[in-house]
Amino acid sequence: MKKPELLVPAGNLEKLRTAILYGADAVYTGVEGLSLRAQQAEFTMAELEEGVRVAHQQGVKVYAAINISAWNSDLEQVSAKTGELAEIGVDGVILSDPGVLALVRRVAPTMPVHLSTQANTTNTEAVRFWHAQGVSRIVLARELNLEEIAAIASDVPEVELEIFVHGAMCMAYSGRCLLSSHFTGRSANRGECTHPCRWEYMLTERSRPDDPLIVTEDERYSYLLSSKDLRMIEYLSEILAAGVSSLKIEGRMKTVYYVAVVTRTYRWALDAALKDPEAYRCAPEWLAELDKVSHRGYTTGFYLKDKAEVFAGLNPEESYRRAYGLAGTVLQYLPEEGKILVELRNQLTAGDETELLLPETTLTIDSTTMTDEDGKPLATGHNSYRVYFQVDRPVPAGAVLRRRLTRAQIL
Ligand code: SF4
Repeated sequence: MKKPELLVPAGNLEKLRTAILYGADAVYTGVEGLSLRAQQAEFTMAELEEGVRVAHQQGVKVYAAINISAWNSDLEQVSAKTGELAEIGVDGVILSDPGVLALVRRVAPTMPVHLSTQANTTNTEAVRFWHAQGVSRIVLARELNLEEIAAIASDVPEVELEIFVHGAMCMAYSGRCLLSSHFTGRSANRGECTHPCRWEYMLTERSRPDDPLIVTEDERYSYLLSSKDLRMIEYLSEILAAGVSSLKIEGRMKTVYYVAVVTRTYRWALDAALKDPEAYRCAPEWLAELDKVSHRGYTTGFYLKDKAEVFAGLNPEESYRRAYGLAGTVLQYLPEEGKILVELRNQLTAGDETELLLPETTLTIDSTTMTDEDGKPLATGHNSYRVYFQVDRPVPAGAVLRRRLTRAQIL
């Protein structure tokens, strides 16, 4: 049995550190101007150099996405940045464009190359084809089921296969879609998707433009294109049996809080599954954890063959549920005082239900112990305040504090 890595999105340096703290084996990042996520999820070369240094200290790998559909005007930049990525020492690049592949092979011939899911690889011959072009890992299309994946893995054991196990699904074949370009001028193929497939649509009759017809199949079905979010944590033994090398979590645009919760939950689950795949059962508390991040209704995607379920009319109540949010992050643990110094990232009121996420467990924090930097009790702390809380055990820097949201905060 292969021991697949847990691969976590790192939209910036803070998220990279969070992913490492909570158990990632590898992270993937964007590269300024060259990845399929807009500016807010890309690293400058200086940040990437720092990220690689930090990750390698902890034995964690870093893959850099340069997966734009390149135009001629992009090629010079691709070539220059590939050289820099090789110097920085990233552990691989993720790409989808054959032209970018050719450039990478020329500029950095020993650089491991991962083919992005954007290339929509769905069969053994395609895997062999890309392998012959120098690709060492294929991120398979999300549209395959586990049986099909297992067949490919057994046909080409020499090629690493990566699959998504958690996160948002795309209505189109991963980003091959014009909705966002059409409505907002921001292209999904250039990393700027505004997710218009999640919007509500109406039909209008030509001569009655002011009289839209809401599209419904029944009372609960009004979202035309909206997909649910992928969640495969219950099926890790089946995934291990399929023989893939890497389990990928989607979401470079997601928050630090999301990265912390999803990474540690899959870390716990994957370790349990690897210990005894046959006996693996997903613990109810792991499902509860994954319900505590912002998400849409969950689905098993195409993996279990029931393809109809993925886009099965996500009703309005199922869109973006969240009950908890980021309260702050730990800057420092002060052992003599039994306190942590936290930088708040949202408003927190003494009495709010607050929990500290440690890599191995969750601590309840008494938010009424919140004090300011001078030690005075604080009734309410605001974003960027530095505050103290009492704790009864050591806490690593970067640990995430979450708070339960009130109904008003959720709406
Ligand atoms: S709009 Fe939806 S279907 Fe289109 S690229 Fe974005 S996520 Fe995918």
